[in-house]
Amino acid sequence: MVRAIVGASFGDEGKGKITDMLAAGSDIVVRFQGGSNAGHTIVNDYGKFALHLLPSGVFYDHVTNIIGNGVALNIPNLIRELDELSSRGVPRPHIYVSDRAQVLMQYHILMDTYEEERLSSRSFGSTHSGIAPFYSDKFAKIGIQVSELFSTDILREKVSRICELKNVMLEHLYHKPLLREDQLLEELISYRDMIAPYVMDTSAYLCNAIREGKSILFEGQLGALKDPDHGIYPMVTSSSTLAAYGAVGAGIPPYAITGITAVVKAYSSAVGAGAFVSEIFGDEAEELRRRGGDGGEYGATTGRPRRVGWLDTVSVAYGCRLQGATEAAFTVLDVLGYLDEIPVCTAYEIDGKQTVDFPVTRLLEKARPVYTVLPGWKCDIRGIRNYDDLPENCRRYIEFVEKQIGVPIRIISNGPGRNDMIIKQD
Ligand code: GDP
Repeated sequence: MVRAIVGASFGDEGKGKITDMLAAGSDIVVRFQGGSNAGHTIVNDYGKFALHLLPSGVFYDHVTNIIGNGVALNIPNLIRELDELSSRGVPRPHIYVSDRAQVLMQYHILMDTYEEERLSSRSFGSTHSGIAPFYSDKFAKIGIQVSELFSTDILREKVSRICELKNVMLEHLYHKPLLREDQLLEELISYRDMIAPYVMDTSAYLCNAIREGKSILFEGQLGALKDPDHGIYPMVTSSSTLAAYGAVGAGIPPYAITGITAVVKAYSSAVGAGAFVSEIFGDEAEELRRRGGDGGEYGATTGRPRRVGWLDTVSVAYGCRLQGATEAAFTVLDVLGYLDEIPVCTAYEIDGKQTVDFPVTRLLEKARPVYTVLPGWKCDIRGIRNYDDLPENCRRYIEFVEKQIGVPIRIISNGPGRNDMIIKQD
């Protein structure tokens, strides 16, 4: 069975912890999109880890981890993350990388940084990980596939074409040092040596595993609202964040993905620019940011303070729909225990009209939140293990959200630790 775990909103919903929990019962954990631009936070017996490129199964000896063809493969980062695990006492994980994945080059990172510099105040709030230039090159057919690392002749030809193109931009648009063919070739050959032990046809491996009935977990990065097609374009990421893309980004049949868990956070947070209808500001925001997550709402990759706001069921219902969610995991609920009342954005007002349909970005930018205010539960719910033991107002909040988003909430996370988890029966 293939199960995907994906974000319903902007990312940072707490997927890391849920994935970690589900990874424990899986044979294979797969990354199918994105790169090292975002991070999952996982707290386990080895300590607290922010994984960027590694699949979340790396802490389990019985799990095979796959980096699928859809991933932006930053090879030195991958090796660095593996080395960090080793240095912190985690046994060497089982990991394979698709021979069809493409290689994220240092010039992708440079181009990303130069472009953000050029855009200045109009920038997209990129994490400077090279993701947008990487995917642009992939679709412009000047990317480098892992399989190509093993032919120096192909690499030679490629670097020459790449330099021809990139150097025009570097010279005339960015006024920065030019790329050199010999340096690129050297970079690529060093990557070949680093990645060689891990490369295989992961699509064939996964299709075989599906036939054998293995339990496979696809882990998404970011969330539905960052999808380039269905998210808040152009303030989106550069590869699809939807469960459906798992089929493409790992090379399996679309119908093989039968369980889709959308992770929904009990309030909202976002990193970077873009419309955020239920965003809050000032002291109210500062308090939520400080109490949020595990030690505050700050980006796992960048350390940037996250924008925060109330739960927005208009966008979450939309996110769950696009993900094709069969269930939801509701996370970070414990954080809201300090509030007397909890506003939930249940509709938008756009040009004087109310709607519960999530609009295109042009209209989203004009949307004002319409709140339904629910009573708080005013206590610490960490440590509770049974749904029925949650305070009544807390259950009411969960059941209200469930109704608004139209997806059953089956997992509730009430603390950062791996045991802070409640399974809710229908
Ligand atoms: P991801 O990108 O979706 O994996 O989300 P993050 O890695 O950014 O996770 C958000 C933060 O919330 C991390 O610091 C987690 O340890 C923390 N976290 C996850 N679940 C919970 C929860 O239920 N309660 C609290 N207080 N923190 C949580």
